[in-house]
Amino acid sequence: MLFDLSGKVALVTGARTGLGQGMALALARAGADIVALGSSPMPDTAERVGQTGRRFHAIVVDLSKAFDANAVVAEAAAAFGGIDILVNNAGIIRRADLLEYSENDWDDVIDVNLKAAFLLSQAVARQMVETKRAGRIVNIASMLTFQGGIRVPAYSASKHGIAGLTKAMANELAPHGITVNAIAPGYMATDNTEALRSDPDRNQQISARIPMGRWGTPDDLATAVLFFAAPASSYVTGTVLPVDGGWLVR
Ligand code: NAP
Repeated sequence: MLFDLSGKVALVTGARTGLGQGMALALARAGADIVALGSSPMPDTAERVGQTGRRFHAIVVDLSKAFDANAVVAEAAAAFGGIDILVNNAGIIRRADLLEYSENDWDDVIDVNLKAAFLLSQAVARQMVETKRAGRIVNIASMLTFQGGIRVPAYSASKHGIAGLTKAMANELAPHGITVNAIAPGYMATDNTEALRSDPDRNQQISARIPMGRWGTPDDLATAVLFFAAPASSYVTGTVLPVDGGWLVR
């Protein structure tokens, strides 16, 4: 019962695929209705959430462009009532050598991975405070919250930024009973890492360093997101939890 989310509403960004879809399904299985935000329709996620018996509502918004976070919150509220749980998962990665890295790629990555997370968190937190909800905000960080990476300067900066944003929001929202935490996934088999996994050398280097001996899957984040989303975790805030098969301690 500690992790029962019946009657809760979760907004999950980037829920069409990969880790976001996996976390949306985990939250739905625990009883939450799901509002999913992405830049394109997500019929597969809609069908799979529906199979859990929970309600599903999609909001199509391109987070790389200027968008109205208050309108997102209003649409979610109109669909299912106010938001109890926000998962800032949508993210992109652009790879190029540092010396060639373009301003356009920098802006796109920072806009989707960091600026959108801030704007959505701010709008959702305002609604949580107004409606006196002990809300939960879960951000998705990365191993590149702790490490610099190679050929991904904007991504690394955005994911370091996610840790700072998590801590800053945790401080200011704690008096309202709202917790803010982050999950730092290790190397997970999703579209985001397709380029790494299809490069035999990089795939071998990465796999050899993971103590658990395998790439992670979207299901591997289920326990972490339920832990942070649960009412029972009310004294846990401002943390960044690696879910990495041991990568960081190698
Ligand atoms: P993914 O399958 O590519 O998922 C990314 C999601 O973000 C997609 O569902 C996509 O939905 C959404 N998205 C991308 N651009 C968007 C935009 N402009 N507006 C709205 N939504 C947008 O990759 P993933 O691995 O699951 O990534 C999810 C999160 O985990 C990201 O923050 C990523 O940085 C992080 N992460 C991944 C790994 C890994 O190893 N895979 C490791 C650490 C952290 P649409 O296509 O509908 O736009």
